[in-house]
Amino acid sequence: MKLLLATRNAHKVEEFHELLPSIDFIPWPSDAPEIPESGAFFQDNALQKATYARDWWKAQGLPPVDGFLADDSGICVDALWGGPGVLSARFANHLSYAEKNPLLLSMVPAGAPRSARFVCVLALAPTAGEPFTVGGAVEGSLATEPRGQSGFGYDPIFIPEGYDRTFGELESAVKHQLSHRGRAAEALKAPLGL
Ligand code: IMP
Repeated sequence: MKLLLATRNAHKVEEFHELLPSIDFIPWPSDAPEIPESGAFFQDNALQKATYARDWWKAQGLPPVDGFLADDSGICVDALWGGPGVLSARFANHLSYAEKNPLLLSMVPAGAPRSARFVCVLALAPTAGEPFTVGGAVEGSLATEPRGQSGFGYDPIFIPEGYDRTFGELESAVKHQLSHRGRAAEALKAPLGL
């Protein structure tokens, strides 16, 4: 099965290859337009990205694929009333994650709960048929400082429930078993007949 992956995030691309190895993922072409993302919810954005990619691909007359897959995801911190949430990619956008992660940690008031979760919504727009979404989440807590080099984004500050190491310290295979994206990818298997 051939799916166009509607993202420019190389880390997400790598994770999808590992999570769904039987799928032939086609990358979003480097000369294609930026994929818009203006919704208020993870679900809105995932659907917007998948349908935008489908419409653009068709308008270009590019070789047919079986569908268009998009991921919208982020970290929701309870002490920040769910933020940065859907704005996770855009939070302090001018900073690197080495700078963003300590900044996010510094925004959590002393003594506040450190609970957080990663959320992922996947939208699949089939070439013919109605788009649909599946989702996954992983509960956990914030570390007191960034730890570990694996993964990407907020992984060094997130400790999944039941562990004492961050996603930045855990093997990618462990992250995939627990993660929001791993769970959403599992939920996609039945509708894709995998
Ligand atoms: P978007 O889905 O393009 O809006 O971006 C999602 C953003 O959420 C990423 O750029 C990261 O900042 C964050 N994020 C989503 N999934 C993960 C993950 O698995 N690890 C670390 N950060 C993540």
